[in-house]
Amino acid sequence: MGTIIGIDLGTTNSVCAFMDRGEPRVIINEEGGRVTPSVVGFSKDGERFVGDIAKRQMLINPDATIHGIKRFMGRRFKDCKEDQHLVSYVIEEASNGDCAVRVGDRVYSPQEVSAMVLQKLRKGAEDFLGETVTEAVITVPAYFTDSQRQATRDAGTIAGLDVLRIINEPTAAALAYVHDRKQASTLAVYDFGGGTFDISLLEVDRDVAEVRATRGNNALGGADIDKVVVTWLLDEFYRQHAIDASADRIVLQRLRDAAERAKLELSTATSTEIHLPFLVADASGPKHLQATLTRSTFEGLIGPLVQRTVEECRKALADARLTVAEVDEVILVGGSSRIPLVQQEVQKLFDRPLNKSFNPDEVVAVGAAIQGGILEGDIKSVTLLDVTNFSLGIEVAGGRFATLIPKNTTIPAHKTQLVSTVVDDQRTVKIHVLQGEQTRARDNVSLGDFELRNIQPAAKGVPRIRVKFAIDANGIVSVGAQDMRTGIQEEITIDSPMGLSKQELDRMKAEAENGRQESDEARKVKALRQEIEQKLVTLEAFLRDQRGLLHKADIGGLEQALKRGRMALLKSSDRANLKELSAYLSRFHGHLSDKVQAGNRA
Ligand code: AMP
Repeated sequence: MGTIIGIDLGTTNSVCAFMDRGEPRVIINEEGGRVTPSVVGFSKDGERFVGDIAKRQMLINPDATIHGIKRFMGRRFKDCKEDQHLVSYVIEEASNGDCAVRVGDRVYSPQEVSAMVLQKLRKGAEDFLGETVTEAVITVPAYFTDSQRQATRDAGTIAGLDVLRIINEPTAAALAYVHDRKQASTLAVYDFGGGTFDISLLEVDRDVAEVRATRGNNALGGADIDKVVVTWLLDEFYRQHAIDASADRIVLQRLRDAAERAKLELSTATSTEIHLPFLVADASGPKHLQATLTRSTFEGLIGPLVQRTVEECRKALADARLTVAEVDEVILVGGSSRIPLVQQEVQKLFDRPLNKSFNPDEVVAVGAAIQGGILEGDIKSVTLLDVTNFSLGIEVAGGRFATLIPKNTTIPAHKTQLVSTVVDDQRTVKIHVLQGEQTRARDNVSLGDFELRNIQPAAKGVPRIRVKFAIDANGIVSVGAQDMRTGIQEEITIDSPMGLSKQELDRMKAEAENGRQESDEARKVKALRQEIEQKLVTLEAFLRDQRGLLHKADIGGLEQALKRGRMALLKSSDRANLKELSAYLSRFHGHLSDKVQAGNRA
């Protein structure tokens, strides 16, 4: 078995780690960084970039630079279209109602985009480890629904990774704690990232990590903080120039960028200057934005968002039936937890110093790598007792929601339910499965309609079908059914499934693998071209320096070779041709050098 990598697939950044002789290590990416921006960019001619390069083109090519895709993973377009203003690219409705991303005339599913980020991480890990990597543990926010988890797993599959386990980010952080400290504690993991917020309360000891409760918000993160700063900047600009600049995509992207930079600065400074020259131009000339944002103004702006996270913490404590005094350690995770106001409020709530010994950007990937190590059998097993974060249930008469597996139940979990018919000879029964806490079914997240078919004809109420609802260790839901009279496993189909079908998944996986091979091919061609360029420069120098010692015929031959090389660099991308040319240039150079040396000796 090869190395299992642990991946924190973040909204803003992603991190990859592995177990190196029993200890977790973060993998350094191709650019030499420990974190990789979760950004995918496309150039005008369709070339794809991932990570730092893609992030750099965000300002100049915002429509074709996809950031924060995690927000749209496994979600219906109707539920996330309001998030359009948080991103610079276009989101639209896919044919199955899911969210999709448009770049020019191509439409991508969020799973495909995430797969591009995963492919980059996988490639970085392969280069770092010097081996092929095919297995991974990927983390997700604890508050991800079934379809968001499925979408994450599908993204892994498209990237050619066998996703051995999906674990919750705070649980991963707790694993890192257990690995490091090996002492019994009650932990609060406060995870405030780029797009999501989670709070988890866990009991850990030497070999068990048990989640007591989790709460969170899948649409509350650093991007929302940036957004309130953007609104403030727009107001400032309006105050200075009486111009509403909110409709221009490029302006908005520049403002978002400036807002994030200001936010980062305010984590250490008490005031920051924002200067955006030539933000817009009208008949009277260009207009610049110049503003000073103090930490206290910033804190006033983001206070309500921070309070929302504190509220969730209070509810989680109540869910876990824990008092603040019973919490031993508070661990901070996610970039937004670096904001001083956030730390102050969390410290105030829990009434104790925060544990800052873990790197909030890396601790989740480290925990994922540890989970990988446990699965590999390399390190001592820690039993993870995670919970389901939403109640699972079905729609019953009157459009109401009947809970089958309540939230905060330890997973894996299952529940069986007997179902029958309501009219004579009824052949099918439809079961609408949902996740959520609302009493009205339609206010919860639909996982799909499961249809039981080919029920043996009988009087109403006579058929007895046992339906089994299960949530596995990844938090992913499955439904199975059995006719109690015949023992026959019922045929179940999902009528309005979310996410990707098996065929779509296979197609995307094949495309990604082609892309990977192509990019491998492209890299080899690029390396050959550089090699040839180098050889041509050396040969040119050779001709310049040795001209007096060369025969006329050799000078002609050398000039021909240089011309052939230059032409090939201009025209050819064929690897075999270039390889042959490179070898020819070396031979030619060697042959002439020998001649010159022989002439010198003579
Ligand atoms: P994550 O999803 O954990 O990578 O967190 C990324 C989010 O954290 C982004 O919104 C960043 O702007 C934000 N962030 C990172 N570093 C800081 C910092 N020093 N102060 C405030 N926010 C930060």
